[in-house]
Amino acid sequence: MKSKNLGLNTICTHVGEVEDKQFKGAVSPIYMATSYAYDNVDVKRYPRYFNTPNQEMLSKKIAALEGTEAAMIFGSGMAAVSTTLLAFLRKGDHVVLQKALYGGTFNLVEEEFDRFGIEYTFTSGLDKDAFAKAIKPQTKVIYIETPSNPLMTITDLEMVAAMGREMGIITMIDNTFATPINQRPADFGIDIMIHSATKYMGGHSDICAGAVAASAAHMEVIWHKSKNLGGSLSDFSVWMLERSMKTLVLRVKQQNRNAKKIAKWLLKNEHVRAVYYPGLKSHPDYELAKKQMSGYGGMLSFELEEGLDVDAFQAALNLIKASMSLAGVESTLTIPKKTSHGLLTPEERKNQGIADGLIRLSVGIEDKKDIIEDIRQALHKVAVKA
Ligand SMILES: *Cc1c(COP(=O)(O)O)cnc(C)c1O
Repeated sequence: MKSKNLGLNTICTHVGEVEDKQFKGAVSPIYMATSYAYDNVDVKRYPRYFNTPNQEMLSKKIAALEGTEAAMIFGSGMAAVSTTLLAFLRKGDHVVLQKALYGGTFNLVEEEFDRFGIEYTFTSGLDKDAFAKAIKPQTKVIYIETPSNPLMTITDLEMVAAMGREMGIITMIDNTFATPINQRPADFGIDIMIHSATKYMGGHSDICAGAVAASAAHMEVIWHKSKNLGGSLSDFSVWMLERSMKTLVLRVKQQNRNAKKIAKWLLKNEHVRAVYYPGLKSHPDYELAKKQMSGYGGMLSFELEEGLDVDAFQAALNLIKASMSLAGVESTLTIPKKTSHGLLTPEERKNQGIADGLIRLSVGIEDKKDIIEDIRQALHKVAVKA
């Protein structure tokens, strides 16, 4: 099915189906073969060439959602991130990465780039000046992530894209938190979109996968690198991801609605010091978020009032589960002090704006009154004890 002019729900439901010509089943069959004929065929297929029938067809759904010519599916978000960065960076090149990045991406750069002779600079902030200062003559890539984790800071897509275009630098975004439902960076001129499909695209906390979307020319470069690095996804998981993505819009919209309601409720609560959600007018980047996002997402964070114990709060919850990951249909929370930012010193955390009482909530699709009631009763319990 051609995706031009189709709505997002139709794309999610139909684009990139593998047609069942043999039995005319309503859904894609799974082709598990790792061995295909090489004579008299258009494409030499092999799972690590990222071109089995299921891989190839699901890529079309991702490309249609991001509004790009092409896309690829990977075995994890980090396989997508590492392959894409290494596809465009070689010895002597320099990459500018925004401050506030997913921990795994930060570790990839800090722990691996030296051995390849790739130089890097993290920006001091997210404004134009901070990016301009970080750029060097040998800069080949600018890499951003918006909204960021866990404080939901927003980076100006149009500003970064213009800077990249003017200077001949490729721009990349980790679009995991927003999803293409809430944010289409290509519409603002960003070159390459990267996803941990483990998160919203999968959405049920049971698939580990990644995705990249870009122009056909950029995807060609990434494809050549991906064969060497080998981060492909098994066809069974590809099929699971296709199934999950049929409901992506429904899930994300419900998560948007829930998160906005919960953020507003938290803002008014006497036991809560601060709420970080880009859809709140009180968020410092609200205007920017409004300009470049069509929904504000299901991720938010908040700080408990001083003296309230975050561990006791977590223990008092009945519905919301503590979880390292995010973006499932179930609401989960994480305490950055103990998980994503646990290896930092309290001083380093403070510098990054991560208070010890900070809680990051991944809002699910449950009824919002039940999520709010769970938070309310847990806040009440810790406040009475304090
Ligand atoms: C989880 C995550 C990743 C890494 O994805 P994996 O699927 O765990 O490899 C990258 N970026 C963001 C924003 C993430 O949340």
